[in-house]
Amino acid sequence: MSIMMGLPATFNPEAYDVIVVGAGYAGAVCARKLAEACGSKVAVIERRNHIAGNAYDCEDEAGVLIHQYGPHIYHTTNDRVHEFLSRFTEWTDYQHKVLANIHGTLMPVPFNHESLKLAFGEEKGEHLYQKLVATFGENKKVPIMELRTKNDPELTEVADYVYENIFLYYTMKQWGKTPDQIDPSITGRVPIFIGDDDRYFPAAPHQGMPTEGYTRLFERLLDHDLVNVFLGVDVRDILSVKGDMVYVFDRPYGGEVIYTGQLDELFDLDLGALPYRTLDMQFETLQQDQFQPVATVNYTTTEDFTRITEFKLMTGQELPGVTTIMREYSKAYEPDSGQTPYYAILEDESQALYQSYRERVDGILNFHCVGRLAEYRYYDMDGVVASALDLSDEIINSNR
Ligand code: FAD
Ligand code: UDP
Repeated sequence: MSIMMGLPATFNPEAYDVIVVGAGYAGAVCARKLAEACGSKVAVIERRNHIAGNAYDCEDEAGVLIHQYGPHIYHTTNDRVHEFLSRFTEWTDYQHKVLANIHGTLMPVPFNHESLKLAFGEEKGEHLYQKLVATFGENKKVPIMELRTKNDPELTEVADYVYENIFLYYTMKQWGKTPDQIDPSITGRVPIFIGDDDRYFPAAPHQGMPTEGYTRLFERLLDHDLVNVFLGVDVRDILSVKGDMVYVFDRPYGGEVIYTGQLDELFDLDLGALPYRTLDMQFETLQQDQFQPVATVNYTTTEDFTRITEFKLMTGQELPGVTTIMREYSKAYEPDSGQTPYYAILEDESQALYQSYRERVDGILNFHCVGRLAEYRYYDMDGVVASALDLSDEIINSNR
């Protein structure tokens, strides 16, 4: 493998069987699989000056390992994904826990047995808990939008409390809309948990942090003789799609193209811009051992930011006397502004626009879309890896 800045003057697309656009999970997994399984020579083209996409981590000036594009906690129920990634890293056990700051009181999120008692007092909280158990069963997850449909005064009281204090203001900050105006699958990511487990991802048997960090994982993932990575190159400067053909340097390209960027950008937004939310991330280094009790505290009733993450508590890094925290401020993404399109806004209109772009490329046999941007989906890391493994299988099988 080589990683270099820019494209050398000698770069010859014909020398590559595969061009991968983007060195995040989607691109890096496909690059590795196709190099290994088909002996394909792969050029990975990445416009940032580093690999690992949004999972990129690095040490800040104080020596604290930070996640440059937001806190990333690995969790999956998918054994294939876990086995694959485990070839490139060891894992440090870390079970993610989140507290919501509700007017100064810290309560577990997902809202659980303990949260109920903190919100309603010991006795009433226990009574309401038993009611939830009788209605849904123990150790069950109930999305807030489902709980809100129950026609029972006590369940309504719980639903109203959770809706008002956990979801309403946070969702307004994150999406600029109320929870009932967004796709229920989004708030459904953090269902109420009828039980005592206070982990954010209770269902995930595989959970943790890559022991040497995400960037190191990617260095190993991309470390293959047949894979070359070119950083700081926007693929739109060399590659275009016209009709049912892919062109590189204005010449038809017959190799496979794995595209993990935004589809609207590839076509100069000519049908309109796909909507996204972006984040301003404000990092602050403090001269103290620890700032907050858990790695992430969500501010669900106050403040303009959504959450504060303290990286050391997630990575387990031991570094006395100093810690780095990060506040996330969400806002609408402006196309062509240099902002990062962190979250697709999943609505009927935007999905239809995405489909219009997608139809342009679906008939091109050597052009493949994969990943959070190119599929316009709200994927976690494991979902992207699963999708990239599936796509790689398809290409590998079609080459046989
Ligand atoms: P990306 O990581 O975005 O990679 C795409 C790459 O393509 C980028 O590096 C981009 O620069 C490059 N690219 C795009 N266009 C071009 C172009 N024209 N030319 C060249 N290169 C281009 N998942 C979890 O599992 N756990 C978490 O805790 C978690 N936390 C998250 C927190 C935040 C704030 C966000 C935004 C996401 C989080 N995720 C988390 C999701 C995770 O980041 C994604 O699922 C994953 O990183 C997506 O990988 P990808 O390869 O699809 O996209
Ligand atoms: N959410 C909320 N309050 C919380 C946690 C989550 O309102 O304390 C809602 C919010 O709409 C958020 C969504 O649930 O966007 C999904 O939360 P998650 O933590 O999965 O978001 P991510 O980590 O992907 O930003």
